[in-house]
Amino acid sequence: MAQAPAPEPVTDQETELGQAAYDQLKQKGEIIESSPLYDSLKPIADAISRTAQPRYPHPFKFFLVHETQPNAFATPGGNVYVVDSLLYFAKNTEELAGTLCHEVAHTIHRDGVALMEKEQRIKRHEIEAAILLGPTRAHIIAIALLGKLHSLGYSRDAESKADVTGSDICAQAGYNPWGLVWLFHDFQQADTRHVPQLLSDHPADGARIQTLQQHFRDNASTFSKFSSDPKTAKPFSAPRNVPEQFLRPGH
Ligand SMILES: [Zn+2]
Repeated sequence: MAQAPAPEPVTDQETELGQAAYDQLKQKGEIIESSPLYDSLKPIADAISRTAQPRYPHPFKFFLVHETQPNAFATPGGNVYVVDSLLYFAKNTEELAGTLCHEVAHTIHRDGVALMEKEQRIKRHEIEAAILLGPTRAHIIAIALLGKLHSLGYSRDAESKADVTGSDICAQAGYNPWGLVWLFHDFQQADTRHVPQLLSDHPADGARIQTLQQHFRDNASTFSKFSSDPKTAKPFSAPRNVPEQFLRPGH
């Protein structure tokens, strides 16, 4: 069965926070170690990584996790977590790609680090000097960060900026960036219990859609070649009822 990637070694504060978050998710038994679902995710994740990698110093790595809501979230250091059910929630390749591009953009913008800097008073000089936080502090910060990432932690402005950078990455990777707009529309129509946190920041007000559409209009040379019609989307379907093997704490 297709496997989860190996985590990146800790070399600075971002990878340290990333590792602490990984350890926490592993502790909770959420990380899928192997599953055929990795084969479905891989082509999209690879294309986005190739495009986004020049903008970030650590390799992007995509992990599948099992949680109750379809969702995706990124932690400092390059790890992107994709909840398995998002592969079924996404109606097409463009919607899934748009989500992954959005998450990668949060990492490029250092949004997670900025959030923790504010919340946990990580000192600016600690970040600039890339001083490691130590296992206990990193662990505490990682738990706080994961909580924030699951509860509308980012401002609408940070979300919109991630949408815009994400749409640039998707366009460059060859995925129609309208996918994210289509996904917003799907969320607006979805049962609220199933609205993923990743886009549930004021999902109904349309401000993020407007910002994206303005970006598409302002950069017509990049975006005008993409159709806004979801009927042009490339179907995506992940196999159902496939096995998932989880990373277990202590292994
Ligand atoms: Zn976001």
